[in-house]
Amino acid sequence: MASVGGGWQIAGVQTSVYVHFPWCARKCPYCDFASYRMAPAAVPHARYADAVLRELERRADAVRGRELASVFFGGGTPSMWAPAELGRVLHAIRGAFGAAERRSDEALEVTVECNPASLDRAGAAALREAGVNRLSIGVQALRDERLRFLGRMHDREGALAAVRAALETHERVSVDLMFGTPGQRVDDFADEIREALDLGIQHVSAYALTIEPGTVFGDMQRAGTLRIATDDEYAALFAQTERAMGARGLEHYEVSNYAAPGERSRHNEHYWRGGAYLGLGAGAVGCLDAGPGTARRYRNTADTERYMGAGDLAETEAEDEHLDGDALVREALMLGLRTDAGVDLADVERRSGRPVPRGRERAIERRLAQGDLLLTGDHLRVPRARWLHLDGIIADVF
Ligand code: SF4
Repeated sequence: MASVGGGWQIAGVQTSVYVHFPWCARKCPYCDFASYRMAPAAVPHARYADAVLRELERRADAVRGRELASVFFGGGTPSMWAPAELGRVLHAIRGAFGAAERRSDEALEVTVECNPASLDRAGAAALREAGVNRLSIGVQALRDERLRFLGRMHDREGALAAVRAALETHERVSVDLMFGTPGQRVDDFADEIREALDLGIQHVSAYALTIEPGTVFGDMQRAGTLRIATDDEYAALFAQTERAMGARGLEHYEVSNYAAPGERSRHNEHYWRGGAYLGLGAGAVGCLDAGPGTARRYRNTADTERYMGAGDLAETEAEDEHLDGDALVREALMLGLRTDAGVDLADVERRSGRPVPRGRERAIERRLAQGDLLLTGDHLRVPRARWLHLDGIIADVF
């Protein structure tokens, strides 16, 4: 991004694209994402792709001249989307950025989130054919009792089959694993991690089960009928996860993410660095720099019928927020401190137009003295040994 003669230009600004697919075959009891239950046979594949293409066209002015950094299809369950329709959207995105001619398929990371229940070899191959080169599979667990508790549609064998199908057609495959289910043993989770890595994957997202209001688990917790892991159990599972991944050479590069060298998610790293991203689809969020020290964040309506019938962007968007320099600094700290790279203060100052850490000196100095923060040159980060306490540290300097 560059300011020219007091003006503003977006030429060459690295920008990622997130496409939201808002349906799942079943709603998981812990999930508060913008996703709705839909029988696979009832998905309006082409109508939804048409709507996303219309939105892309309406955002053409905001896109022109930007450099496409990565594309991520999330959800929901985008592996339920007919690969040809997803491919049509991907092709249009590359075209809108002028990326079709400039970058080879492999140079541009294109990820699709997949549910094991809707991923087989033919589907994985069709996605590869459509230009996708990374699959992220919501395995969540490799124990049938844990999968049943999480309300998942697949069992262990189904998960293993989906990952194998993905690996037959894609070099870059990630799996999500969730920890903190009732009675989960630390050593057994280490075995699950090893079993997943034995398949040959290079990237794992390991999330703690969190209970969100408005979900089935949220209601059960309010009613006192849900037991999940205690804080001590979470801490032991978190530490064991790090040990099991480290023993197999995976780097803990963000609080919930592990990767073999060179296999980090470029899309997520761009996001955590505070990079610009275009959001497309019902319920999608986008955030684009809008001038020196300012950005515009929007959230599309999550109402799928309204989204598909929208006549213009005013009907597409449900929220529109202006971020000033202070908000950009806060976002940068919140996202960057969750990564091993930390926050590049010079870069944040350049993007936000605000000197950092103005107004936060005392909190930062206190945390530096306690060893909760490290400052190396311009980089501020939380040492890995303190990642269990990240939320408190970030809240303090936020
Ligand atoms: S499959 Fe994923 S997005 Fe869909 S309901 Fe389950 S957790 Fe939510």
